[in-house]
Amino acid sequence: MGWPPFASHLRIDLTSLFRRVNRRMRKRQFAFCLVAAGLLVANEFTRAADPSHPDQPILAPAEAISRLREGNGRFTAGNPQHQHESVDERAYMAKNSYENAGTISLGLTTEQAAKRRAELTKSQHPFAIILSCSDSRVPPEIVFDEGLGDLFIVRLAGNVLNDEGLGSIEYGVDILGARLIVVLGHQSCGAVDAAMKTIAAKRKAPGHIQSLVTAIEPVVQATPKGDLETTIKANVKHVVDALRSSTPILKARVDSGDVQVIGGYYMLDTGTVTFLDGR
Ligand SMILES: [Zn+2]
Repeated sequence: MGWPPFASHLRIDLTSLFRRVNRRMRKRQFAFCLVAAGLLVANEFTRAADPSHPDQPILAPAEAISRLREGNGRFTAGNPQHQHESVDERAYMAKNSYENAGTISLGLTTEQAAKRRAELTKSQHPFAIILSCSDSRVPPEIVFDEGLGDLFIVRLAGNVLNDEGLGSIEYGVDILGARLIVVLGHQSCGAVDAAMKTIAAKRKAPGHIQSLVTAIEPVVQATPKGDLETTIKANVKHVVDALRSSTPILKARVDSGDVQVIGGYYMLDTGTVTFLDGR
């Protein structure tokens, strides 16, 4: 004997009710997971910038520029200090920047030094962000004589800006607390030179190299009579302007004076960095 008709309907109704409840529960669980994941991400971000374990104080933009000038001065004078790289310095930073630092003593073994470098990734307070060219002759840590944990760096040929680079810079500002962004171009930049020549010849660069030409093209078109050095500086200014007007994160911070974006130009022959705009 089967269920009487009314009971059969009841069974169907109950089944659909359970399904609905189940769906709701799943939605709630999903929402909970999203919130939990958000909190986890927030925790990771917070831990990365944990203010209770500062490696170094967050510098105001003007102070950060001064520090970069001083570092570049040491570099050009042939007197680099390679700060934050010595054994003592690493041990000092270790004790002040993460919880297990006490287990690392002065005179790090190779293994301990490797562990220290790995743990430093969980806590960092770079005082400036540098967007520079990938050119092997312009490594920012060397030309500014800075060491581990000092500079947050994005490098792309021609110091162009793409979404991933912008996201990295926003991370450096919003999560790590850096207040100075420098777009660093350099003398005889091969990427800008190649873009100018490719555009002049009305050709395409091979493979993905064309993406660099496309990124630099608006600058080349806007400076039709510019020589290479003029175009390199115009390209720096173009990227500086893009960062200053980037919403929703950077523009508000720049407009309030909290963050400063400036251009820089590195001379390959002298090693000198000139800041193009001290604003
Ligand atoms: Zn370059």
